[in-house]
Amino acid sequence: MAVDCLFCRIVAREIPADVVYETDQVLAFRDIAPKAPVHVLVIPKEHHPTFAALGQEDPALAGALAAACGQVALDEGVADAGYRVLFNSGPNAGQEVFHVHAHVLGGKPLGPMLAR
Ligand code: 5GP
Ligand code: ZN
Repeated sequence: MAVDCLFCRIVAREIPADVVYETDQVLAFRDIAPKAPVHVLVIPKEHHPTFAALGQEDPALAGALAAACGQVALDEGVADAGYRVLFNSGPNAGQEVFHVHAHVLGGKPLGPMLAR
């Protein structure tokens, strides 16, 4: 567990979260400040800071994360209507928590990919 990592502490159940999906490798829980009717964060239980780092350090785990995103979309009922999977990476993308996480967003038309 990385020292002072918020999402490692959620994995360790030191901080409560509304968990919607879990395997031995990944955890998915609702975002505390949802930006859409469905807004779930999907993380590997192991600490990797960014999507790029995860892909370099453990490609199989990146695959497990992708599979979990698809399962969450199905479970949340947004798979058919469509949804967005988003990884913020670094300052220009506004990444706040440096434990890689996919945002799974859906439940309404999401508009343009980027704010204008
Ligand atoms: P980022 O900006 O790093 O891509 O996304 C971090 C996300 O984590 C934000 O959408 C934020 O609302 C969410 N978040 C921050 N703190 C907590 C928390 O304690 N619990 C949960 N469930 N989500 C959090
Ligand atoms: Zn962490």
